[in-house]
Amino acid sequence: PWGIDLDGVTVRYPNGTVGLKDVSLSIPAGSMVAIVGLSGSGKSTLIRTMNGLVPVTSGTLRVGDTTVSGAGGAALRALRGEIGMVFQGFNLAGRASVLQNVLVGRLAHTPLWRTLLGAYRERDRELAYEALDSVGILQKLYARASDLSGGQQQRVAIARALTQQPKVVLADEPVASLDPPTAHGVMGDLRRINEERGITVLVNLHLLDLAREYGVRMIGMRAGEVVYDGPAASASDGD
Ligand code: ADP
Ligand code: ADP
Repeated sequence: PWGIDLDGVTVRYPNGTVGLKDVSLSIPAGSMVAIVGLSGSGKSTLIRTMNGLVPVTSGTLRVGDTTVSGAGGAALRALRGEIGMVFQGFNLAGRASVLQNVLVGRLAHTPLWRTLLGAYRERDRELAYEALDSVGILQKLYARASDLSGGQQQRVAIARALTQQPKVVLADEPVASLDPPTAHGVMGDLRRINEERGITVLVNLHLLDLAREYGVRMIGMRAGEVVYDGPAASASDGD
C-alpha cells in the first residue's frame, strides 16, 4: 500500500474559490481514514487532488512515490492506474453486466482490443470474481447493473476499484445515498478491505456516527482547513 503526504497544500479553483487552504497531513501506508465535514468543507477537493483530477495550486502532495503536485499527464495516468476510486452515485454502465462493469477496473492493465472483444484474460476474471466475492455479490455476476439495488451497485463500484489491485482506495461519499443499514454494510466492506488486504483507505463521510464506527483516524474539515485530526472514536460533535 501507499502513504500520502501533504505539505502546505492549497487548492484554488479557476473562479477563485479556495477548495483547500494550507493543508498538511501525513497518512501512513495501510491507514483507514475517515474525512468528515459539512458540504463545501473541501472533502472531495482533497480526494480529487490526490488522484490528480484537481490541480494543486501551491504546496507539495505526494501519493506513494509520485509527487502529484507538478506531475505531468503520463505520471498522472500511471498514478490513476494504482488508485481505486469509489464515487457517490456508483457511475456504473447500467446496461452492462456486473462483470463488465468490474472489469473496467482492469482497463489500465488491458490492451484495448481485448476489452472491445470481451476477450478477458483469465487473470482479470479471477481478480473480478475475487473482488465480487469479497463484497458479497458474486452471485450477481451476470446481472445488469441497473437491475441491482443501491447497496449492491455501490458494492460493484468497490469491486471495480479492488480489481485494479490498488495501492490506495479513495471513496468520495460512497454511502451518502444509501439507507442506514446498507450504508453500514458498505462501510463494513471498506473496513475489511483495509484490514484484510492492508490497502490504504480514505473515505469521505458527512455522518460523524459512521466515522466514529469505521474510521480509525478521523480528519475533520471546515472551509478547506483541517480542524480535527485524531482518533475517530473520541471525536465529539463540537470538534
Ligand atoms: P465537500 O466535498 O466537503 O462538499 P468540496 O471539496 O466539493 O467540498 O468543495 C470545497 C469548496 O470548493 C466549496 O466552496 C465548493 O463550492 C468549491 N468547489 C468545488 N468544486 C469546485 C469547482 N469545480 N469550481 C469552483 N469551486 C469549486
Ligand atoms: P439494499 O441495497 O437493497 O438495501 P444490500 O444488498 O445493500 O441491500 O444489503 C442489505 C443488507 O445486507 C444490509 O443490512 C447490509 O448491511 C447487509 N449486507 C449485504 N451484503 C453485505 C456484505 N458484503 N457485507 C456486509 N453487509 C452486507
